[in-house]
Amino acid sequence: MEEINDLIILGRSWPELLRDGRYSVCVAGYSKEHGFIRLYPTKIFSPLKTWNIVRVKVERNRADTRKESWKIVGSKEDWKHLDKNIKILGVLKREERINLLRNLSKDSTETLRNQGRSLGLVKPEILSWNLEDTGLTPPVQTTLTGLKLKTKKHFRNKPYIEYRCLPACESKSPHCQQLIEWGAYMWLNKQKTREDQEKVFDNLKLNDKNWEKYFLVGNLAYKRKTFAIISVMHFKK
Ligand SMILES: [Zn+2]
Repeated sequence: MEEINDLIILGRSWPELLRDGRYSVCVAGYSKEHGFIRLYPTKIFSPLKTWNIVRVKVERNRADTRKESWKIVGSKEDWKHLDKNIKILGVLKREERINLLRNLSKDSTETLRNQGRSLGLVKPEILSWNLEDTGLTPPVQTTLTGLKLKTKKHFRNKPYIEYRCLPACESKSPHCQQLIEWGAYMWLNKQKTREDQEKVFDNLKLNDKNWEKYFLVGNLAYKRKTFAIISVMHFKK
């Protein structure tokens, strides 16, 4: 067991359904001492909210060998009382958030791949975005508090963002990555029409030059060459 004493939560993805029936959220954060951190599995309702600073007891997850990946102590045996291993120490202030984002955003998908890292922060030049229609028939509407919750594969329309990393992107063609952030899917889940779902990109201020934007990116456990955008972080200049 180890303890991470300075974990700043940067983002959460939309829940996945584990084989044993638990809904689990992937949480990503940054610790000055340990670097980028992924916590998985975590509960839907938890103190691991973006910009919270927490102390958390962790252990290695044998099913996930990525060096940023940890699970919370007791996550299997004591799922119900998982929160007892998390303590909120504070919340990062606006100025501190901005400084952290500016200082940390030195990554690109290329450098992450080359360095064998699975999480990073990118300053993007955003080129385009698209709500891709997968053609899937949407299942019966479900709620967050009910037992049945839509996971990403149940959404007919999936958000993608095309971008280049700043200051210099080494990739031959721009990156086109799926957005898997909690807030974005929460929005998609609530809307009745595709037209309203498309406003997910307005909410993220992708088209608004008055907002500075950063992408928290991470690779997929089962497809490590593929990266997704875990969170779009933005603030008004
Ligand atoms: Zn790039």
